[in-house]
Amino acid sequence: MIQVYNTATKQKETLQTQAPNKIGIYVCGMTVYNYIHLGNARVLAMFDTITRYLRHRGFEVNYIRNITDVDDKIITKAHENKEPVTAVTERFINAMHEDEDALNILRPSHEPRATEFMAKMIKMIETLIEKDHAYVADNGDVYYRVSSFESYGALSHQDVNDLRAGSRVDVVDAKRDPLDFVLWKMAKPDEPAWPSPWGEGRPGWHIECSAMSTHHLGDTFDIHGGGFDLTFPHHENERAQSEAATGKPFVKTWMHVGYVQIDKQKMSKSLGNFFTVRELLTRYHPEVVRYLIVSSHYRSPLNFSLEQLDTTRSALERLYLALRDLDLSQEEAGTEFETRFNKAMDDDFNTANGLAVLFDMVREVNRLRETDLAKAGRVAAVLKRLANLFGILNEDPESYLTAGQVETESGVDVSEIESLIAARNQARAEKDWAKSDQIRDELAARGILLEDKAGETRWRRVALEENTDDTAS
Ligand SMILES: [Zn+2]
Repeated sequence: MIQVYNTATKQKETLQTQAPNKIGIYVCGMTVYNYIHLGNARVLAMFDTITRYLRHRGFEVNYIRNITDVDDKIITKAHENKEPVTAVTERFINAMHEDEDALNILRPSHEPRATEFMAKMIKMIETLIEKDHAYVADNGDVYYRVSSFESYGALSHQDVNDLRAGSRVDVVDAKRDPLDFVLWKMAKPDEPAWPSPWGEGRPGWHIECSAMSTHHLGDTFDIHGGGFDLTFPHHENERAQSEAATGKPFVKTWMHVGYVQIDKQKMSKSLGNFFTVRELLTRYHPEVVRYLIVSSHYRSPLNFSLEQLDTTRSALERLYLALRDLDLSQEEAGTEFETRFNKAMDDDFNTANGLAVLFDMVREVNRLRETDLAKAGRVAAVLKRLANLFGILNEDPESYLTAGQVETESGVDVSEIESLIAARNQARAEKDWAKSDQIRDELAARGILLEDKAGETRWRRVALEENTDDTAS
């Protein structure tokens, strides 16, 4: 039984899908006017892991994640750059896909774009007007009438009267209630516009997700997800629109991914108050970023600092070291580790506890290396498969450990390292310990750590501050 925390009920509930072994998931995707940052990557990577895990547990997953390709921020960017809106959106959609590929985030089953759904949005707004849940204001914009939807505020656990008291007086006084929100905006000069029964214009933000999600998944579906900040007003408004239009419950389970918290003091010195994925990937292997994301539970805040990425890198290296030199072609059947991993993940996708199980496997593999190398390989193969659900351990261990992560590159080439190792082995054979130690120290100073095992010398690249102790143990 998989338990999932539902924002709407504030508790963990047993996941019961509408159709057996099938699950429909809708996640609010990116507004494409900039490169994705670590907070965006956390949402994308977490739902990738959740989707992979549900497939691993036998579900057929229909995963829909939209692209918001018409929006005030996109239009502002296009005006600033003096380029067409579609040039901005195409560029940043491509950039997002590149970043996702780098991070090994699988594409959703469908990736609908808002601009492809004008007809469906207009139809939905017409229905809302017919049912008196929406009205055309004096300025021509169409608004959702919040007072017409009795349970408004239930998802975000807010009282409508408090919301109304706290709402700022809007510059647009065409609204009849400060809580009403726009469904369709009349066209302004130099903005993209589409024909509608209310004149040329464009949709408000919230309506697109109601249109796209119900198109792909039906009026009622299993899971709706997004970043924590979308709970209100976006998801509250989506729910109000969808349920008012269809007369059916919209979503069974609402899932929200927590914020990335940043050590601002350290950030402000270097790159501003957030890191784009691109910036991080110039310094860290993508799997280090994936590892960081699964290292805390998705609902907790993720505390981020560059130091933490360094720690993360060492932890990932321990996982790769466990796989090194083993035959991973066959799996150990029925390990209790997989049962324990599933148990951790069944508890609201607790990736942090899942990782702890992976490290128990590392210890077991390292222990088996001394006694049963073949079994060590079979357990390591299970470790690799489970870690793949987190988007990590996809690389060949040997290449990962010797290629080095970007920041630790020390400019030594492989043949040079190997000839130095040969020279050191020669010195050792001649019992010239001074020379042997000198070569080891020289390599260590350049970020190359040697390990002598069973008459053979292996090497790997390490971060320079780490090279005096061996993290393999
Ligand atoms: Zn949305």
